[in-house]
Amino acid sequence: MDLEKYRQKLLEKREQILKSLEESAKTDINEKSGVGDDADTVTDEISRETYYRLTQADKETLYLIDLALRKIDSGTYGICEECGAIIGEKRLEAIPWVRLCIDCSQNEEIVRLFQQRNEEEMIYNIIPPTIGEEEESKNPQAE
Ligand SMILES: [Zn+2]
Repeated sequence: MDLEKYRQKLLEKREQILKSLEESAKTDINEKSGVGDDADTVTDEISRETYYRLTQADKETLYLIDLALRKIDSGTYGICEECGAIIGEKRLEAIPWVRLCIDCSQNEEIVRLFQQRNEEEMIYNIIPPTIGEEEESKNPQAE
């Protein structure tokens, strides 16, 4: 596997995101300083909402990129974090910062969607840390 190729891809993407974040920050300052017309309020809300989400996603990608770069250094790049399988090069080509193999990422996607919905509905409601243990003891017949 050509690790340097992936390192290059990761660094490029990283730079790209940082640039776009800078651009977004500039736009945000402009929006705050300018007093919009009432008619524009709704459009402003939507665009700001979208911008917020994009920024969050970008931050997450940045985090994953840094993680992947560290993995290249430590020699664990391209290995699924969940099951230890080697992630296909095609998959790495498409998403160089991917952490999981296809099977595991499909599972994670389901968990993610569920968590996102919970976060939106409960607004970070505090979940007691014991909930996992309770669930385990409630299902002695699991498996
Ligand atoms: Zn896996």
